[in-house]
Amino acid sequence: MAEINNFIKTIMQQDLESGKVDEIVTRFPPEPNAYLHIGHARAIITNFELAKAFNGRTNLRFDDTNPAKEDTEFVEGIMYDLAWLGYKPQNVFYGSDYFEATYEKAVLLIKKGLAYVDDLSQEEMSKYRGTLTEPGKNSPYRDRSVEENLKLFEEMREGKYKEGEKTLRAKIDMAHPNINMRDPAMYRILHIKHHRQGNKWCIYPMYDFAHPLQDSFEGITHSLCSLEYDNHRILYDWFVEKCEMEHVPHQYEFGRLNINNTIMSKRYLRALVDAKKVSGYDDPRMPTLCGLRRRGFTPDSIRNFILGTGLSRVNSTVDSFQLEEELRNDLKYKTLRPNAVINPVKVIIDNYPEGVVEYLDCPNNQEVPEMGERKIAFSREVYIEREDFIEVKPNKKWKRLALNVEVRLMHAYFITATSVEKDSNGEITCIHATYDPATRSGSGFDERKPNGNIHFVEATTAIPAVFRLLEPLMLDETEENKDLDFMERLNPDSLQIRNGFVEESLKDTKPLDHYQFIRNGYYVTDKDSTKDKLVFNRTCGLKSSFKL
Ligand code: ATP
Ligand code: MG
Repeated sequence: MAEINNFIKTIMQQDLESGKVDEIVTRFPPEPNAYLHIGHARAIITNFELAKAFNGRTNLRFDDTNPAKEDTEFVEGIMYDLAWLGYKPQNVFYGSDYFEATYEKAVLLIKKGLAYVDDLSQEEMSKYRGTLTEPGKNSPYRDRSVEENLKLFEEMREGKYKEGEKTLRAKIDMAHPNINMRDPAMYRILHIKHHRQGNKWCIYPMYDFAHPLQDSFEGITHSLCSLEYDNHRILYDWFVEKCEMEHVPHQYEFGRLNINNTIMSKRYLRALVDAKKVSGYDDPRMPTLCGLRRRGFTPDSIRNFILGTGLSRVNSTVDSFQLEEELRNDLKYKTLRPNAVINPVKVIIDNYPEGVVEYLDCPNNQEVPEMGERKIAFSREVYIEREDFIEVKPNKKWKRLALNVEVRLMHAYFITATSVEKDSNGEITCIHATYDPATRSGSGFDERKPNGNIHFVEATTAIPAVFRLLEPLMLDETEENKDLDFMERLNPDSLQIRNGFVEESLKDTKPLDHYQFIRNGYYVTDKDSTKDKLVFNRTCGLKSSFKL
């Protein structure tokens, strides 16, 4: 795997050398309100790989301070995805475990005259906040006495007030040029059951207050986050200082990862799931880690993709074809290469004896002899891809089957098409052919060159299979659709189903088994697959689909 190298690594190195820190401790802090997406993979890999580079430690910390949308389903999903990516946190912590300690720090700030209980409504507060160009106004409740604030805050905790009735705010500066410093909210009232704390609490700390304290409690040295927190850093430092935190963590920001034409915010992903535009968070078209896994992407392909995008202090947009390239790099020499016919048409070899099935040797992966061989069936009836046949050979470039044209069925015999049968719509229902027994694979026959090599699946042993061909969920952005809501820019053809066959060696395939289907691309067995009806998702093609 590629080595991680970026500006944060340089900072860490310097901090170790100067003695500012004596070890590197990072954390990955997801909010358990959805499944992780590939953007999160950048945060995960950055935190874990950087700590690893210095023999440091990384915690997983669930940022579960807003009970409204959080759920244990997501907690479990996130842990599973993290382990799947190959990362084992030193500790698993929950922001909610620090509620008591966080509450005490809020009390400390009140005692120091640095926090107050405000009765303004949310709308009033935002009116008082001012704008980028105008200073804000002090709340009429700003000068409450320490005693009154302590009493009111305790009553907030006891549940004496309704949601929105009171808020605990830091007392900083309503004219501060950075709006985040204009008396930010520290606690709000929410009468909602928490997924871990139950009904113990009805006041919940805000991210900006809770996060630096959690980092400090855990001894985090480098608190890494994406760029949008840049102008919150001043507040982060303020809370650490004013709360008299023993350990002083520091925040560093990095650019977010975006992928062309890919919706990557949890809000949108949730909207797709809720509107049933996809089958769930793990729909193989989703950019979630569970969706990418089901689509057939491997942990190594994702890690190498993320490392390959680099890291800087600007947000970056990359093309998804790079992820496909990493998948091919990862699996090319590892996967079996069986035969699958995705859009089948039957070929009847009229001069082959009826009722006989013979078995021929076939390498498991032509490029890796150590992967061995298996037997593939051959008989009078085989399936080939419909696209591999045309009645009249159009030109020299046609290197597939046609009437009176001879091709090699890979690892079997040469066949020549002789006639076709058609239905009332003119569609070909079956191709008749003859084979030449002298051309058996492995016999050393070299008297004629066939007009190409095509793959096949023997008909009586073939297992029916559903192939899901997956395209981007979103249509390419154009002049006409660029202003449309993302729900109206969904690609109606993002999921296409084909019914075909695979060779019998795949009879025991199980979900997440990867294959390179000869000439068709990389596929993975889906969780919907059953013994009688196998289901495969197409991960990507054999070659880059990148178009200039
Ligand atoms: P979203 O904006 O998609 O809803 P989020 O940032 O609210 O995601 P969190 O659960 O808070 O989701 O994210 C956990 C960590 O992952 C944060 O540190 C966040 O900065 C980081 N992260 C989320 N999306 C990306 C991205 N696209 N690129 C890099 N880091 C990201
Ligand atoms: Mg967030």
